[in-house]
Amino acid sequence: MYVIERRQRMKLSKFNIIVDNKDLTCIIYNSSTGGILELDGKYKKMFLKASKSNDFSNLPKDLLDTLKAGDIIKDDIDEIAALKIFNNMVRMSSDNIGLTIAPTTTCNFRCPYCYEKGASISTMDDKIINETINFINKMSIDKNQLNITWYGGEPLLHVDIIEKITNGIVDKERLHYNANIVTNGYFLTREMAEKLYKLNVMYAQITINGPPEIHNIRRCLPNGEDTFYVIMKNIENICDILRISIRVNVDKENICRVDEILNVLEQKNLIKKVGLYLAPVDNINESCNQHNCLNSLEFSKEEAEFIRRNLKRGYNFINIPSGQQQICGAVSLQSYIIDPLGNLYKCWDEIGRKETSVGSVFEPITLNANMIKWLGYNFLDFHKECEDCNILPLCMGGCPYHNYNAKEKHCHALKYNAKEMVAILSDYKKSVRN
Ligand code: SF4
Ligand code: SF4
Repeated sequence: MYVIERRQRMKLSKFNIIVDNKDLTCIIYNSSTGGILELDGKYKKMFLKASKSNDFSNLPKDLLDTLKAGDIIKDDIDEIAALKIFNNMVRMSSDNIGLTIAPTTTCNFRCPYCYEKGASISTMDDKIINETINFINKMSIDKNQLNITWYGGEPLLHVDIIEKITNGIVDKERLHYNANIVTNGYFLTREMAEKLYKLNVMYAQITINGPPEIHNIRRCLPNGEDTFYVIMKNIENICDILRISIRVNVDKENICRVDEILNVLEQKNLIKKVGLYLAPVDNINESCNQHNCLNSLEFSKEEAEFIRRNLKRGYNFINIPSGQQQICGAVSLQSYIIDPLGNLYKCWDEIGRKETSVGSVFEPITLNANMIKWLGYNFLDFHKECEDCNILPLCMGGCPYHNYNAKEKHCHALKYNAKEMVAILSDYKKSVRN
């Protein structure tokens, strides 16, 4: 009430994406809150007119309140400065610990594009397991939350290590301890899933890279044996125990075959029981053929088409996120990756490269040069265009590793397909209502 009376100047948020469906509705998506508002009739007209003049003082109270609640219009503040402050607060918050632990960097698959190429191969021994447990317990003393992601190599090659470390964590209840796992899915039998569930693992991310004939070339055993149907069988057997998300790494060669994975999921009655998302294969460590990689613009088109096409089949893969503010664990104070030798890293893509480590579970944490690089990261230091980007709150300038190591910008797909995604979502909502 008070705010309206004193006619504080309001302005449109920098982070709005407005889709004007001409004679019909107008949809506004705010990338900071993730809120989507659809206006029609006189409300649409009033909003567009006020936006043009940037004068919202004559809008009716109900419309004004709705626009303010979704951060679509805001007090006249510097939104970039506010985002930066909020980002620093979230990154430096000392309450929650996020650890990624690789019990081993060995793997039972031989994927040609594997990110672990060039990294040393090792497995935790008892001394390192014990020191990792000590590290976690010391770090957790005054914290409220602990989350562990089990990673590798293939972490299920050494579920005994997962078991030992989990059992060594004291105060699991107070820490609301929960875990997830990134696995190739080959060893994820029902028995294994039950064991993991007892070890607080609730969620598994599994990669499938196309229909069988493509997946089996890209994700085969060392002797060349196929893996597709073993993984599918496992997913079928465990999806009532763990939440499963299938990641499909796509490039120019397999993108046209992605729907065939859905056919298999459909045959196995899995389609509504598991999540699925597309991720572009990335040449981050020069571990894939650059010519086959889709750039952000190409990927954004393929992703939007995939979603629209499959919506017609009744599958909803729409995912329009809201601002993440945190960026990623690499630049957050209480986040570490622990490799099988007990070395600590900040970024997943540096595991096994000792020269990039920020410390070790055997020593107290210090602000060494690598640590300063990651904690001192400023998402606005790299690409001037980011300051004018309407999806900055959810992209935050992209992956810090890319920004430090590659010259060019790696924009989020929503930079190019946000309007299309919002339109797809609106169509979907209408179809559900009718
Ligand atoms: S810096 Fe990039 S590659 Fe490293 S963990 Fe973060 S998002 Fe992943
Ligand atoms: S990297 Fe691209 S999508 Fe991300 S904030 Fe910058 S301009 Fe926007």
